[in-house]
Amino acid sequence: MDFASRDVVSIRDFSKEEILYILDHAGKAMPVARGERRSDVLEGKILATLFFEPSTRTRLSFETAMLRLGGSVIGFSDASGTSVAKGETLADTIRMAESYADAIVLRHPMEGAAKLAADFSSKPVMNAGDGAGQHPTQTLLDLYTIRTELGHIRDMNVALVGDLKYGRTVHSLAYALAKFGANLHFVSPPSLPMPPEVISHLEKRNTTFDIHRDIAEVVPDVDVLYVTRIQKERFPDVEEYNRVAGVFRIDASMLEKAKEGLIVMHPLPRVDEINPDVDATPHARYFQQAFNGIPVRMALLALVLGADLEAVL
Ligand code: ASP
Repeated sequence: MDFASRDVVSIRDFSKEEILYILDHAGKAMPVARGERRSDVLEGKILATLFFEPSTRTRLSFETAMLRLGGSVIGFSDASGTSVAKGETLADTIRMAESYADAIVLRHPMEGAAKLAADFSSKPVMNAGDGAGQHPTQTLLDLYTIRTELGHIRDMNVALVGDLKYGRTVHSLAYALAKFGANLHFVSPPSLPMPPEVISHLEKRNTTFDIHRDIAEVVPDVDVLYVTRIQKERFPDVEEYNRVAGVFRIDASMLEKAKEGLIVMHPLPRVDEINPDVDATPHARYFQQAFNGIPVRMALLALVLGADLEAVL
């Protein structure tokens, strides 16, 4: 399988076999991710992380992944300190970054920004979130978490809860889970449903899904409860946000009817969707999930930059 120089714009561009190949490599990369072993397979390589929107986990885990493999990082976490503030276009910023670095990680508020960047760049571009569009590398770490925690991905019952309209993580995850034959349950306020393009994709693939308004309806049946934040920054009108803010709150008592093996996931940050009393239950996996961003992004960087990861694992 050849990943060298590939862009990672949409999870739809990757086959199930390719996804599993990346996850296998992530598993092998774990000792290096934990700092128990050293690697320098990316020595001499430079990664540019261009973040036009806030980020904690995605940016820091990409950077950690690069450093753990012996590479270096340049970039910014706030475009107001760059020439973007002077009116530079995204296309020109990308042209510069590709001449300085070997790969680019881009987060941007505009849907389609990563695709545009990939079209302008001869170096691989990784989509770290394009507005309400997609977040493919998050999906890879989500799948890695499901696979390591539950043993496999096939035929899982997965509930996607919260802001399904603006949440890019659930868009990418729904596309990916469709490849694995999962049964999906969508739980959202009526005003924040899965977008029509995701729904029609699922219909075309004969993916089974149903729609709910109440978390209690799905808790007893699901293997994964994937909770998301209402994406305040995407609402055109704050009043509209206030109407739906806080509608879904999960606490430990709501999980009493859950299967023993149910795992609760969340791409983070959480605002108030998951009460801290869930953290101490055997169901919580969101912090492990966040850590898994390191081995998964290590595997991805090594593959895309054409490094011989096998040689050091
Ligand atoms: N961190 C995730 C994202 O950037 C989820 C979120 O912000 O709610 O999409």
